[in-house]
Amino acid sequence: MTSPALSVLERTFGYPAFRGQQAEIVEHVVGGGDALVLMPTGGGKSLCYQVPALVRAGTGVVVSPLIALMQDQVDALTAVGVRAGFLNSTQTSAQRSAVERALVSGELDLLYLAPERLGTASAVDLLDRAAAGGGLSLFAIDEAHCVAQWGHDFRPDYLRLSVLHERWPQVPRIALTATATAATRREIVQRLDLDEAASFVSSFDRPNITYRIEPKQQPVQQLLRLIAAEHDGDAGIVYCLSRASVEKTAAALVAAGIPALPYHAGLDASVRASNQSRFLREDGLVMVATIAFGMGIDKPDVRFVAHLDLPKSVEGYYQETGRAGRDGLPSTAWLAYGLQDVVQQRRMIESSDGDLAHRRNLSAHLDAMLALCETVECRRVRLLAYFGQESAACGNCDTCLSPPQSWDGTVAAQKLLSTVVRLERERNQRFGAGHLIDILLGRSNERAVKGRHEALSTWGIGTEHSDVEWRGVVRQVLAQGLLAVQGEYGVLTATDAAGDVLAGRRPVMLRTEPERQSRSRSRSSR
Ligand code: ADP
Ligand code: ZN
Repeated sequence: MTSPALSVLERTFGYPAFRGQQAEIVEHVVGGGDALVLMPTGGGKSLCYQVPALVRAGTGVVVSPLIALMQDQVDALTAVGVRAGFLNSTQTSAQRSAVERALVSGELDLLYLAPERLGTASAVDLLDRAAAGGGLSLFAIDEAHCVAQWGHDFRPDYLRLSVLHERWPQVPRIALTATATAATRREIVQRLDLDEAASFVSSFDRPNITYRIEPKQQPVQQLLRLIAAEHDGDAGIVYCLSRASVEKTAAALVAAGIPALPYHAGLDASVRASNQSRFLREDGLVMVATIAFGMGIDKPDVRFVAHLDLPKSVEGYYQETGRAGRDGLPSTAWLAYGLQDVVQQRRMIESSDGDLAHRRNLSAHLDAMLALCETVECRRVRLLAYFGQESAACGNCDTCLSPPQSWDGTVAAQKLLSTVVRLERERNQRFGAGHLIDILLGRSNERAVKGRHEALSTWGIGTEHSDVEWRGVVRQVLAQGLLAVQGEYGVLTATDAAGDVLAGRRPVMLRTEPERQSRSRSRSSR
């Protein structure tokens, strides 16, 4: 017994069987039902709409924000004999007319459409003519999380997609995404009118990825050590926050003999395209990129994804690390993050346009990311919990493999916070982490002399910890919301919660920094 869907899968795509929930999803959409599909990157979302579009009569319309990939997708489909076309702003009007004619006369199985086109009267008219001509088999809304206003990929054009249901209510819709927390999921359902849709939620676990997060000291050296020790000759992606650090890091890798290419929005489109296609086609290249790189990239053998700067959200982190190991083989997701990341991001949020609600939202995303970084529990448990999935300790992340020690940092936090509070109250002065640590360690400098900081009661009271340890304390105290970042210089101020710590009402548990851990280990082994 072979269903029409299975024979399309075999004959057209050459695959013997559906994967995971594909069969159920395809059957549901073939039957005319609406669907919301949450499947991690690499899970096989495309076939969920491509197969039904071929089984049902008429053209399947795929709304996708990934304009740069449309040509590739259409080429790949054409190569297996599927009649596919796309409409976006990169085409000449002659090219567009040809696709439109084919669509209206029912000669297309699949049409990829940029979301901004749907807002135009001419596109609505075109789809009306297509519906009356060859018919519409389905609407697929790819990257559906782009409809979520507070999400990190929000596209205003996606809000217009409710027109699909209003105008062509009989055409089934399938919304797909790899990133959706419960809140984003609700927003997708609400904004796209998918209350009646069946939800298909796949597991988000990527068991072959080893998650590791470590404090940032000399990020490029740390990265070089990682590559030398575990990923020599492997393909990988290195994410940096700024264009400048992309350039610098790529140059450092090349200087160290590692074939690396830069990718960011400041490069010429032709350079970007050529670097991307080299990365996809050649073996063992390392792409150093801003997050402008990667959406929709399907390279199965990316062995490591490294973040040299802290991602802005857990969703971003999951999506970016998810580009590793799509072939199922062991892969590494490695992140180095430090005090400066927290200061910088808090400062960016504070100075961002947008109202209070927007800034709060960005803060909440950052806090969740920081919690993942500072956790002493299994990273994967935390990560999956963020996507609403329960799991047990994985045995394949840094905290499982070498459980971090934690220590009672209440006294250290009190010393730090009282320094901040005294400077604010007694001197009306605020400083960044570096100078606060100088005060705690009693390291004199021009600023200390000028500000008479040697007279502070907290001068030099922190010598039981090293500089690195203090940076860890500041970072974690900041991550726990006991300190806040203020102004364009990123000075630190105490929050209301700091009062509880100073009053001894709230203990502060801290993760042991690797340096401290190895020191105490070597001490105890003596
Ligand atoms: P997603 O869009 O969810 O990231 P894709 O649709 O691009 O994932 O699929 C990822 C890879 O898995 C592709 O190379 C695709 O051809 C392959 N794939 C998907 N479904 C199947 C299947 N049923 N059998 C074999 N390979 C599949
Ligand atoms: Zn784990």
